Amino acid sequence: MENLIRPSVAVAIFVIMVTWEYLSPRRIQHIERKQRWLVNLGLALANLALMRLTIGSLAYMSAVWAAENGLGLLNIWALTNAVSIVATLLILDFAIYAQHIMMHKSSLLWRLHKIHHTDMEFDATTAVRFHPLEIVISMLYKTFCIVLIGADPVAVIVFEIILNGAATFNHSNINIPEIINKKLCWLIVTPDMHRIHHSAEPDETDSNYGFSISCWDRLCRTYKAKSRHPQTTLAIGLKAYRRQAELGFMALLRLPFKSQNSRNH
Ligand SMILES: [Zn+2]
Repeated sequence: MENLIRPSVAVAIFVIMVTWEYLSPRRIQHIERKQRWLVNLGLALANLALMRLTIGSLAYMSAVWAAENGLGLLNIWALTNAVSIVATLLILDFAIYAQHIMMHKSSLLWRLHKIHHTDMEFDATTAVRFHPLEIVISMLYKTFCIVLIGADPVAVIVFEIILNGAATFNHSNINIPEIINKKLCWLIVTPDMHRIHHSAEPDETDSNYGFSISCWDRLCRTYKAKSRHPQTTLAIGLKAYRRQAELGFMALLRLPFKSQNSRNH
């Protein structure tokens, strides 16, 4: 069942966002869609196949295993279902926020995560542009967190659906009126908020790490409300890679293993 619900919701949200992008785009895109989409969706399919064949169910299975064996803080404290579900959703969301910061601050992990940031445009397909090794590391880290806190198995599925939907939404090239965006920002991560994280300016890349709710960035002082340049013209990507042609599928897979000069390049 979990294997059916998650991809169905993910595809539905993707279709809604792509339609919204077409009807009301936030920015004019200068790179041909066909070129980027082939690379980004190619990575998505490769990652999907890899996870299906290997550890795709690990997060849910580890939550079931922890619950059956009374492992993890939430299982030891024997909380009510509702409290356990809300606590799981909040703690896992913070854990993913913290993981995102680690992906930027560790030079080794940055080699993998920078693949996501080499996209020179920003739309719903950017949300699935990840190196397979980052996907594997993320799953292992998430599983560790799930067992540690004794996450509720149902909440783990809900969390995965929310995370996936939120990532597709907050990477979308959609136009949300400024007044609504300002209000939404207090609760959730909007595309305008997350686009700043994809800015080519290093200090802006080092901000707005959240995926679903915006409070972690505010609480941990990594929140940036405004970019230096207007949202419609700010340069997206990494400066070093903006000087060369768009990287292809194989080049992106090899990129983490090439020598690099500094963390942001
Ligand atoms: Zn990032």
